[in-house]
Amino acid sequence: MSRVFNFSAGPAAIPDAVLERVRGDIPDWNGTGMSVMEISHRSKDFLGVAAKAEQDVRDLLAIPDNYSVLFAQGGATLQFAMVPLNLAAEGDTVDYVLTGTWSKKAIAEAEIHCNVNIAADASPGNFTDIPLEDSWRRSDEAAYLHYTPNETIAGVEFQFVPDVGDTPLVADMSSCILSRPIDVSQFGVIYAGAQKNIGPAGLTLVIVRNDLLSRARASIPNLLRYSVYAESDSMSNTPPVFAWYVAGLVFEYLKEQGGLAVMAEINERKSAKLYAAIDKSDFYNNPVSKDCRSWMNVTFVLKDPSLDAKFLTESMAAGLTNLKGHRSVGGMRASIYNAVPEAAVDALIEFMHDFEQANG
Ligand code: PMP
Repeated sequence: MSRVFNFSAGPAAIPDAVLERVRGDIPDWNGTGMSVMEISHRSKDFLGVAAKAEQDVRDLLAIPDNYSVLFAQGGATLQFAMVPLNLAAEGDTVDYVLTGTWSKKAIAEAEIHCNVNIAADASPGNFTDIPLEDSWRRSDEAAYLHYTPNETIAGVEFQFVPDVGDTPLVADMSSCILSRPIDVSQFGVIYAGAQKNIGPAGLTLVIVRNDLLSRARASIPNLLRYSVYAESDSMSNTPPVFAWYVAGLVFEYLKEQGGLAVMAEINERKSAKLYAAIDKSDFYNNPVSKDCRSWMNVTFVLKDPSLDAKFLTESMAAGLTNLKGHRSVGGMRASIYNAVPEAAVDALIEFMHDFEQANG
């Protein structure tokens, strides 16, 4: 395989070992004479894949037994609606923490369905920091508090889990799930689109504490109801079988690597060396407060933006792809999810150094 170093924010890199396995499994998977895309989701073979994927992700995240693991579709964006529809009645107040583009979108959707209180707002600092927790203004009766542990676009990540007492805590972990161990028992709902740290787009992982399954509004479509997924093992209709199978291979791969404690060590090291390279240079800059810099999405700008296009062309020629920052913020973004090897980060640092020497 000829592979570049891929810094895409999502859909993002998938481990080489997983891709090799997928290639080998097509077109004759498990001795069936068919690929996994061509068999019934209710066949014994596929049910085995589904159950193993669930068990492996339960093992990786140490998910307690009183939580359901759902394999849904519609991306994290559909969860922006499913969360309020399943956890809050019309007119209920819900708390949201605004730390960037993705929490803003989650808020806009929730406002359609209930009464949103912005408990904390990082927009005055242009989304480069996270308001101190003791400054948050939470409502007394919130049905839940929603936050975005990692803001993929600005590269801002919570290095703590909010303490909200008995209020169910809901987290959009799309761009940080599986990057480090977490204590699932601190959360009511965790959701994540698959296309960053889990596998192909089209699958959405949702982890729900079981006592929250029965709060859904009566009038919502069945397929938007968490309990329908929980009661049918996410097979009330045809699930995204291929994405589920690849996610299962990624979970297996992560277990083989030693699990999330090992991934966390690697992820912390990868991001620390990249931030160190940015900070020691006057040519590059990262504006995010040091206490909330993302391990997964490292953003930086060139002091002279007229060099952006040259940086992108030359980095691409050097085998480093997808470094362009999100169109809403410009600059550069290196997304360094689990599947991006440390060698990719080393190569990027070397390229940045050489580019600065030639153009600084
Ligand atoms: N939340 C976060 C933190 C994201 O990074 C993204 C996608 N980049 C989304 C939500 C939206 O996800 P999807 O496209 O799967 O709906």
